[in-house]
Amino acid sequence: MSNEVERGGLFVVSAPSGGGKTSLTRAAIDELARRQMSAEISVSYTTRKCRPGETDGQHYHFVDEAGFVAMVDNGEFFEHAEVFGRRYGTGRAKTEELLARGVDVVLDIDWQGARQVKAQMPEAIGIFILPPSVEVLEQRLHSRGQDSAETITERMAEAHSEIAHHAEYDYLIVNDDFAQALDELIAVFVARRLSRPVASARHAGLVERLLDSTARKV
Ligand code: 5GP
Repeated sequence: MSNEVERGGLFVVSAPSGGGKTSLTRAAIDELARRQMSAEISVSYTTRKCRPGETDGQHYHFVDEAGFVAMVDNGEFFEHAEVFGRRYGTGRAKTEELLARGVDVVLDIDWQGARQVKAQMPEAIGIFILPPSVEVLEQRLHSRGQDSAETITERMAEAHSEIAHHAEYDYLIVNDDFAQALDELIAVFVARRLSRPVASARHAGLVERLLDSTARKV
């Protein structure tokens, strides 16, 4: 049997702000762990301020503009973009290390980042989460109580440009019923593991033994 570890899958999840992607991806990671399927959410770097309830290093790595620019100049980002006037980026080294260890990595990023990831890694799997209606999207932005009325208006306008890019993704999930959307998201992770190249690598020993034993009986 091969000792080589099969690389993890790279999953890019995008949605308009308030689409529920952060809650969904975090719940999916917990459920995958229960099923012994290791997956991690990449912790992005951002120049935006830490919100109440957020922890540096857990929700984001909060950095200043100069620190962010230095990382860009050193080629430390896998992708980076400006969203809502702030800068966000995915670190290259950590993502690579996880993938090389066979861990599935989830990037909770916007369409600009998703496009950069696909250009560098076409096998990355893009998942777009849609809200069930404009009303629900707006209500979710209000109920999370994190943003001012002005910010919410801005985010509704940004939702249009995010949704306009949905066709660049491989899967679309409507987040109406949370449990159903979660099942559907998990199905995408499971489907990749069952895809022939990934499953072949995982079951190389089994296939070898089956072929070996059945050949003797021919
Ligand atoms: P928030 O500030 O509300 O946490 O995130 C705002 C937006 O930035 C979300 O659409 C989120 O997906 C996006 N975002 C977060 N991290 C990254 C990142 O590393 N790269 C890119 N391109 N977008 C990100």
